[in-house]
Amino acid sequence: MSLSSEQKQSIELALRQRRAEVLAELRTETHADDGTMRLPTHRGEADDDVTSAADAVEMAQTLRDASELERIDAALARLPSAQFGVCVDCSDDIGLQRLRAEPTAVRCTACQIRYEKSHAPA
Ligand SMILES: [Zn+2]
Repeated sequence: MSLSSEQKQSIELALRQRRAEVLAELRTETHADDGTMRLPTHRGEADDDVTSAADAVEMAQTLRDASELERIDAALARLPSAQFGVCVDCSDDIGLQRLRAEPTAVRCTACQIRYEKSHAPA
């Protein structure tokens, strides 16, 4: 099964919407108004101990958003190809239902569970 162009269009729309949201979040978090990304770093400042906890939280959130942005861009790049919607591990169809819920998915549910188990932190 391959996705119809209508199905791909609706997935592309979802990806672009999510991309805009993530970009807006990143812009708020990094306080960058010129579109470039600035990770919060306060190393070397006198109040390092006071700000480091908040910075760590902010940094973690920023990194999460940045990696989601990468996955979204990768999905958008993959979308026109025949590889989109095909599991990278077993070459089976990921399934429209899963793609609608998670358009950046590169694995079918079974392979994703296996992947997460094998890559889980010890
Ligand atoms: Zn699979």
